[in-house]
Amino acid sequence: MKEKIIYWLTGSQTLYGDDVLKHVAEHSEAMANYVNKFMPVTVKYLTTCKSSDEIVAAVKKVNADDNCLGIITWCHTFSPAKMWINGLKLLQKPMCHFATQYNEKLPYDTIDMDFMNENQSAHGDREFGYIVARMRIDNKVIVGHYTDERALKELYSWCRVAAGLAFSKTVKVCRFSDNMRDVAVTEGDKIDAHENLGWQVDYYPIGDLVEYINAVSEKEIDALMKEYAKKYTMATDRESVVREQAKYEIAIQRFCEDKGGYIGIVDHFGTLHGLNQLPGLAIQDLQSKGYGFGAEGDWKIAALGAVMQYMADQKGTGLMEDYTYDMKDGLCLGAHMLEVSPQFAATKPEIRVHPLGIGGKSDPARLVFEGIAAPEAIAVSMVDMGNRMRLIIQKIELVEYPHKMPELPVGGLMWKYKPNFKDGVAAWIYAGGAHHTVVSSVVTAQEMIDLGNAWGVEVVVIDENTELNEFKQKLAWADRIWKMR
Ligand code: MN
Repeated sequence: MKEKIIYWLTGSQTLYGDDVLKHVAEHSEAMANYVNKFMPVTVKYLTTCKSSDEIVAAVKKVNADDNCLGIITWCHTFSPAKMWINGLKLLQKPMCHFATQYNEKLPYDTIDMDFMNENQSAHGDREFGYIVARMRIDNKVIVGHYTDERALKELYSWCRVAAGLAFSKTVKVCRFSDNMRDVAVTEGDKIDAHENLGWQVDYYPIGDLVEYINAVSEKEIDALMKEYAKKYTMATDRESVVREQAKYEIAIQRFCEDKGGYIGIVDHFGTLHGLNQLPGLAIQDLQSKGYGFGAEGDWKIAALGAVMQYMADQKGTGLMEDYTYDMKDGLCLGAHMLEVSPQFAATKPEIRVHPLGIGGKSDPARLVFEGIAAPEAIAVSMVDMGNRMRLIIQKIELVEYPHKMPELPVGGLMWKYKPNFKDGVAAWIYAGGAHHTVVSSVVTAQEMIDLGNAWGVEVVVIDENTELNEFKQKLAWADRIWKMR
C-alpha cells in the first residue's frame, strides 16, 4: 500500500504576497512529510492552489495518475472557493478535508495581523467546506493538529478506505457456479455491482477448472505440501486426501491468474463435477493469500472479502457465517462447512479429514482451529434491496471459546453482538442482513461506513448506540429516500 500516493493540496490565493506563499508552501511540505511517516500509503505535497487554472491542472494530474488514490486538502489561508469549482467538478478520486493548522497553539504574546493573514485555517476551512457541501461531493472531514495522535489515526483509516476504494475498482470474481438454487440473499444485480462498486463477476464452467486440476504435477503438489507443513499441523494420516486439496489450490490460483487476475472465487458444494472433494483447505489457504471467497455462489461476499482483506493487510478478515446461538450466554458460533480463513486462528490450525454429510463427495481435508478474541470487530453484509445495494455493518466482540468443542470439525469464531444479543440480532434481521458476512478484527466500522459512502450505497450501522425502534424508523426513512432517487 505504501507504493500508492495521496497528494496533499493546499488552498491559498495570491492576495497575501510572495513571502506568505513561500511560507505556505514550506509549511505544507513539512506537514505532508510528517504525516507521511504515519500513513499506510505515501502522502506527498503536490502544490499550493492559488487560481482556478492551477486547481484544474492539479486535479487532472491526480486523475491521470494511476498510482494516486486521492487527495488531502487543507487551507493554510483563506482560499476563495469559486476558484475550486471547475477542479472539483473534474475530481474522480476521494478527498479528505483535513481541518488542521501549522501551529498548534496561538502565539499569544506576539500575535499580530501578519500572523493572522498567514495563518487562517479556521477561516479558509469554512469557505472550502461550503463549496464541497454545495456541490454534494462525498468527502471526509478530519479535525485536529497534524501531529495529534487521534487525527493521525483517523487519517490512517481514511487512507486505508481510499486504498480499498481503488482496489475495489479492480476486483474480479471468478464463479465456478451460479448461486445456490432457491437461496434469495446471495442473488444480486451484477451489472449494478460492476458499475457502482467496480466488481466484475464472471462465470466459468467447473469443467474448465478440472482441466487445470488434471494438469497439476506431483512436484508442484510436493512443494505446496511443504508449505502446509510449515504453517499447519498435520493431524491426519490420509495424505492423499490432503494432496488432493493442494492440487485444487494450485489449479484455482493458476486459473485465476491465467484468466486475467481474478481475486474473488465462488464455488458451490452442489456443482463439483470432476472434483471428488469440496475445496476446503484449498480455499482456506487461498484466503490467507488474499483471495476473497464466497460459498454457495455468493459473489458479493467474495468481492467484499477481497476488498476488506486487502484493507486489513491479510489479517483477521474473511468469510463468516452466523451459524448457531448460545442463547443462554448471548453468543453466536460462526463457522462454515469448511472454508473459514486461517486469518481467524487463535490456535495453530490442524489439517484434518472428516466426512462432510452434504454434497455426496469424498471426505474433504480442512483446517480446524479455535477463533481469535478481539474486543472490537465487525461483521459486514452486502444485500441487494432491488433498487440499491445495502451495506450492513455490525459491531461485534469476538470472544474466546467458553468451552472446548472437541467434536467440531471446522474453524470458527464466537462473538457477542452490539448493542446486546437481543437487539443486535433483531436489528440485523430487520435490516435483511445475510447469513454470509465478512468479519474483520482489523478493518473498523468507521472505515466501512466511509467506504460505503464513497461507493454510494445505502449504509446501515448496528452498534452500541442502536435503539431498536429508532433503528426501524431509520430503515423506513432510508427506504423512502432511496425510492425517490
Ligand atoms: Mn453458507
